[in-house]
Amino acid sequence: SCIPRRTNLCSNHFFDTPKIPPHSDSSSLVLSLKTLTLDGYFNFENLEHAAKDFGNTYHYLPIAVLHPKSVSDISSTIKHILDMGSAPKLTVAARGRGHSLQGQAQAYQGVVINMESLERPSMYVITGEVPYVDVSGGELWINILHETLKYGLSPKSWTDYLHLTVGGTLSNAGISGQAFRHGPQINNVYQLEVVTGRGEVITCSDKKNADLFYGVLGGLGQFGIITRARISLGPADKMVKWIRVLYSEFSTFSNDQEHLISSENSFDYIEGFVIINRTGLLNNWRSSFNPKDPIQASQFSSDGKILYCLEMAKYFNPEETDSLNQNIEKLLSELNYIPSTLFLSKVSYVEFLNRVHTSEMKLRSKGLWEVPHPWLNLLIPKSRIFDFAQEVFGNIVKDNSNGPILIYPVNKAKWNNRTSMVTPEEDIIYLVAFLSSALPSSTGTDGLEHIMTQNQRILDFCAKAQLGAKQYLPHYSSQNEWQDHFGPQWETFVQRKSAYDPLAILAPGQRIFQQAI
Ligand code: FAD
Repeated sequence: SCIPRRTNLCSNHFFDTPKIPPHSDSSSLVLSLKTLTLDGYFNFENLEHAAKDFGNTYHYLPIAVLHPKSVSDISSTIKHILDMGSAPKLTVAARGRGHSLQGQAQAYQGVVINMESLERPSMYVITGEVPYVDVSGGELWINILHETLKYGLSPKSWTDYLHLTVGGTLSNAGISGQAFRHGPQINNVYQLEVVTGRGEVITCSDKKNADLFYGVLGGLGQFGIITRARISLGPADKMVKWIRVLYSEFSTFSNDQEHLISSENSFDYIEGFVIINRTGLLNNWRSSFNPKDPIQASQFSSDGKILYCLEMAKYFNPEETDSLNQNIEKLLSELNYIPSTLFLSKVSYVEFLNRVHTSEMKLRSKGLWEVPHPWLNLLIPKSRIFDFAQEVFGNIVKDNSNGPILIYPVNKAKWNNRTSMVTPEEDIIYLVAFLSSALPSSTGTDGLEHIMTQNQRILDFCAKAQLGAKQYLPHYSSQNEWQDHFGPQWETFVQRKSAYDPLAILAPGQRIFQQAI
């Protein structure tokens, strides 16, 4: 089962017993690490922070946290660990912002590397015909946004939330409402500098060490630690027209989404979400969105029905407002939403991209950010999305008061299929994200156990109905499940592991490979 065992170690949390046996002599390992000469430093005490992540259900204590100042700190630590006589070897987990969900950036009795320490001096923007920015692997996307905007430039592909590190999102994919046009973040990188599980520092790109380059992108941290990345940039607009419309029929909603992502002259961002059994829905939007027709909108009642919200954004500069409005009217005229439910907003580019941070601040102030997050992210092929929606939104999920449920299609033709990322085999795939928060002490429908059982029902349905779905930000407990997940790509994944991290010391929290003892 995918549901971890509950132990009495930590009554509010689930805890999965790590497969690696504990080191019998951790004090001699600590002594050995203390002999290393570094630009940065190790911490051996107060390590609880490194045993925590956004998921807040897995807590593995390391024996040390490295705060590297230089790339050579990371490489010499890895080489030192390989030379140490201990068996099994100490494991090493790069930790970006620790926004993983199930301990992926943790290392039980191993070494966690705090990648944000590498941050500065960090960013070099190169303007010109093919603009890019060189950044540290521990850099936050929000900082990259602010820096590149100084040059009128910006990365093209984003995540919904920007307080994540480059290394963390590039180890997965980095998918948001721009991915239909630009591909995920892993397709918008020109070059990486990586420290492999052998301790070597290697620069790689499509032209140089391409196997490592594509392996690391979407590679779940298995082949190396990203210490620098060269990220593609494009011209940045200053403002964003942000639009929401509602549908009561799933097929009309998804047809419109698919229509929008197939056209070149479309919106710049396309997402969507599901609203199940919510009342007073539109009142929640009033602070930031205005109805096009206030009277009609006030008569619209969402009570009880399943609704689908299409969310679109168009970037623009203030001097272009007239042509922008015409363009938007034309695009909207091709859609079949419920006419009274057109809601509009105008915000700055930064406000738009940083929108989830605003919610984060609100949740933090209520103590609702650091709760368990039993999230489930799936990629569903277009040909089966209707079956998925019918069963999951119609039968399994009774309401979405535990958190948003995102659903939007992306065009896989824009994605490079040489990376390690696994996707369903179709040209259009949907990202469906169940972004639930659980109340730690609740045994009801807002409790962890209930939400995890519901997630498992969704996974069971996908398997039984043979939807060809894949998990995004995947999490499995056995190697057989990983093998299934990777399918035909598994062999390449294993070969890369033996080439770049033969002793399986990197990113143990993904639980894909175990060390031979
Ligand atoms: P961590 O959790 O620190 O690390 C993740 C994994 O990458 C670990 O295995 C770790 O060992 C490894 N790793 C970290 N740094 C490096 C490095 N430098 N080199 C090699 N491996 C490394 N994802 C999307 O695609 N789209 C979204 O819109 C999106 N929205 C999100 C919103 C929120 C509020 C949150 C919490 C997460 C969201 N995510 C989204 C998921 C997010 O992309 C992943 O959880 C990502 O791993 C988080 O980055 P991080 O820096 O916190 O990584």
